Amino acid sequence: MKIVDVKAMTLKGYKDWNYVKVETDEGISGIGEAHPGEGISDAVVKRLKPLIVGKDPRNVEPLYTHMIDRTIGQSSGGIMVGAIGGVETALWDVAGKAIGVPVYQLLGGKYRDRLRVYADVGRGRNRTNTPEAWAERAKEGVADGFQSIKFDIDGSANELQHDPVDRGLSLAELDKMEALVAAVREAIGYEIDLCIDCHGKYNVRDVILLAQRLEKFQLMFLEDPVPPENIEAMGKVTASTSIPICTGEWVHRRDGFRRLIETQACDMLHIDISSTGGILEGKKIADLADLYYMPAAFHNIVSPLGMVASAHAAAAVRNLHAIELPYHADQVDWRWELVDSGEPLIQEGEFVLPQGPGLGVSFNEDLAREHLKEGYSFF
Ligand SMILES: [Mg+2]
Repeated sequence: MKIVDVKAMTLKGYKDWNYVKVETDEGISGIGEAHPGEGISDAVVKRLKPLIVGKDPRNVEPLYTHMIDRTIGQSSGGIMVGAIGGVETALWDVAGKAIGVPVYQLLGGKYRDRLRVYADVGRGRNRTNTPEAWAERAKEGVADGFQSIKFDIDGSANELQHDPVDRGLSLAELDKMEALVAAVREAIGYEIDLCIDCHGKYNVRDVILLAQRLEKFQLMFLEDPVPPENIEAMGKVTASTSIPICTGEWVHRRDGFRRLIETQACDMLHIDISSTGGILEGKKIADLADLYYMPAAFHNIVSPLGMVASAHAAAAVRNLHAIELPYHADQVDWRWELVDSGEPLIQEGEFVLPQGPGLGVSFNEDLAREHLKEGYSFF
C-alpha cells in the first residue's frame, strides 16, 4: 500500500478547523484533524505531502519521525507540529481501516469504552462575566448531563485590573473572581466537578493569592496559572496550593513535556494531540506521566473529528483524567453532524468511543462543503 495524495481543507467552524485526507493506491483513505488556525493546511500540502507520498501509510510512527526530522527547526512546536498531528491522525485512520481494527487497538487496546468529559463552558452567555451569568451557564452545562465543567477566569474582571499586561491581579479582581466561582458553586453544588482556566495570564505571587481564595471551592483543577515555559515558576504555584494544577495544552511533543513531568512541576497534564504531534505522541506523553503517577487530561479545541482522535488516545492510556469538550462552540450547531459513528458521541455526559475500523467514524462531506472557509476548496 502506498500513499498517492495528501490533501487539506479548512472549514469555518468555531475556529478555522483544518482537516487532512491521506489517499492510497488501494482505494482506502484516512482523515484527520490538525490544530485549528491559519497556515496549517499550507504546511500539510506544501511541506509534509512531498515527504510521505509513495510511502506505506501503515508505518505511522516512522512516517511521523520522518516528518519531524525533515522539518527540523520548525517542528518543535507551532504550525508545523500542528500540521504533522493532523497527518499522523489520518495515517492512523488508514492503518486501522487497512487492518480492520479501531485505532485504539493499534495503540495496545482500550482501558474504557466511555470517557469522562469536562465541558468547557467558557464564561456566561455572550461572554458575560457576572455571578448570575456564570451561574446560569453552569446550570446549562449540568442540564446537558455533564458532570464536570470548566470556566475561563482570566479576562473575567478586566475592568478592575491595574494594568492590561503586567500579569498582576488587583484585590478588586480577586474579589470579583472569588464571587464568580462562589456563584457557580452555589448554583451547581459540590457533586459536579469544576475547573478554572487562567490561560497563563498571571504572575506567581498573585495567582497563588487567587488559588488560596479558590481552595474552599474544591476545584478539580486550576489550569495554566502561569505560562508553562518556566517549570520552576509552575512548580512554585503547584507547591503552594491544595488545588491540583494542570498544564500542557501549549506544550509540544515528549521533549516539551519531559522536565515538566520529571520535576512534577504540575499535578496533572493537559495533552492536546492536535498540537503536540498526534495520537501516538499523546499516548507516549501520558505514559511518561504515569511513571510519576500523574493523571493526564486531554485538551480539545477541535471539531468532533479531532475529539474522536483524542478519544482513541485517551481510551488507550491508563492514567486518563478526562477529555475536554469545547462546549462554548455550541453556537456551531452543525458540528456534531460532521462525523457519524452510528450512535451519539456524547451520551449521559460521557464520550462514547467509536468501535469501527480506523477512527470509527464517517465524515459528512456534503456538510463540510457547506461550511468551507472562504478561499478554501474541498479536498
Ligand atoms: Mg486552557
